[in-house]
Amino acid sequence: MNEIYDQLVSITSVERVRTGENISLDYTHDEALGRDPIFPDYVVFPISSSEVASIVNICKDKNIPITPRGSGSGMSGGALPSPGGIVLAFDRMNSILEVDIDNHVAVVEPGVTLNQLETALEPYSLFYPVRPGESSASLGGNVATNAGGMRAIRFGVTRHHVLGLETVLGTGEIINTGGKFVKSSSGYDLNQLLIGSEGTLGIVTKIFLKLQPKPISYGTVLAPFASLDEIASAVPKIISSGLSPSVLEYLDFLAMASATKNVGLDLAIPKDIQDQAMAYLVVVLENINQSRVDEDIETLCELLGSYGALDIYILPNSKAEALIDAREKAFWVAKASGADDVIDAVLPRKEMPNYLSTVTQIAAESGSFIAGCGHVGDGNVHLSLFQKDKDVKHTTMMSILKTAIDLGGAISGEHGIGVEKLPYFLALEDPIKIQLEKKIKELFDPSGILNPGHVLGS
Ligand SMILES: Cc1cc2nc3c(=O)[nH]c(=O)nc-3n(C[C@H](O)[C@H](O)[C@H](O)COP(=O)(O)OP(=O)(O)OC[C@H]3O[C@@H](n4cnc5c(N)ncnc54)[C@H](O)[C@@H]3O)c2cc1C
Repeated sequence: MNEIYDQLVSITSVERVRTGENISLDYTHDEALGRDPIFPDYVVFPISSSEVASIVNICKDKNIPITPRGSGSGMSGGALPSPGGIVLAFDRMNSILEVDIDNHVAVVEPGVTLNQLETALEPYSLFYPVRPGESSASLGGNVATNAGGMRAIRFGVTRHHVLGLETVLGTGEIINTGGKFVKSSSGYDLNQLLIGSEGTLGIVTKIFLKLQPKPISYGTVLAPFASLDEIASAVPKIISSGLSPSVLEYLDFLAMASATKNVGLDLAIPKDIQDQAMAYLVVVLENINQSRVDEDIETLCELLGSYGALDIYILPNSKAEALIDAREKAFWVAKASGADDVIDAVLPRKEMPNYLSTVTQIAAESGSFIAGCGHVGDGNVHLSLFQKDKDVKHTTMMSILKTAIDLGGAISGEHGIGVEKLPYFLALEDPIKIQLEKKIKELFDPSGILNPGHVLGS
């Protein structure tokens, strides 16, 4: 066919190199809204770090861009291919290499999905507590985006659970950072630098994950409130109470109505309460002991009542699971309803009332429509923006993200910059930091072949 194709086939196999019409549409996009698909020249399915290194060596000599890809569930265009480039798809590098029970560590290849890991850990009563809303996502993608999710309020995000990495750099060299140990004061922490680098510094080929004993009992409380303000004010108080919720989510009334309708869930909330409720708080408490959960739920209900909840429902576990599932699928509902962008700015949770009221005002002034739900306990709510006019959307997004930064926050809490948030990142982030990040990229990827144009622009 041509020299590059022949080289890729000689490193892998004919069956693991796709080109032209054999490239499935799946590999031309991720879940960023409003992006046209881009067909790469090749999709290659490596099965080892040495194959990845050999492919990088070819690409760096010929200046061919590489886009690492996990499951393509990212929301920032991070896995959007570069024209004329290669997509390295980790679908076949998806083995769980080891579950080390004594050290509470799982060693996995990057294509392992969250679902796959959860199933594999079941027999050991251990779990990997980071739970981004899309369980088909890969651990490689999670590491590259520093994924968060609903349980971050209690357990933290991906970077708190990645003990070590094997990574192929843009030079073709393979480095190992961290390992099966929980602390280190041994030079700069390259492990943490690689986490969240969105495939621009290196290609992750092995991951050491910290596991935890699985809590076996839990309880879920749903509380409607008459205003978003009241919810935003209740959140810091719930956290200060010491109850340590493992989920603390909010859904505005529109997100609640559409998310529950989407999965056919009836929570039996009386009509008069529904009519008054502007937003809902969902709180999950977990423990290894059911009586402790029951005591904590009682305390939580008292607190929610004193913070102004219109009513309080302790959900049976089957309904609670269905509600969490509905919340996780909220993005698909927003997408199906024609949402034009998703905002996942993060800010100090104390600033949440201020942020939400300013955002509502910005949206109204620009003739845009906004609906939201998200990880309110982390100060990281997800807002779906409906605005068809591209220029108005851009200025509205810029104002909203600037508001978050002015309130002490950041542009993305967990979805990443990719290409989708790039114009806002470049406009709003400290230029000194951007220059520093560009210099770091040059060291890891001197030829600039790893996800070029993502995160830092050209
Ligand atoms: C319905 C829905 C709900 C979601 N909820 C959440 C949520 O609650 N929290 C959250 O954080 N995210 C959430 N997401 C976003 C998404 O699931 C995460 O960003 C996830 O980490 C992406 O994983 P992936 O395997 O799909 O990665 P991809 O989309 O394939 O890639 C994401 C980025 O990682 C890079 N990458 C992939 N693999 C590697 C590798 N091996 N080495 C180096 N770079 C690599 C890619 O180049 C890209 O930049 C949600 C998405 C959906 C669709």
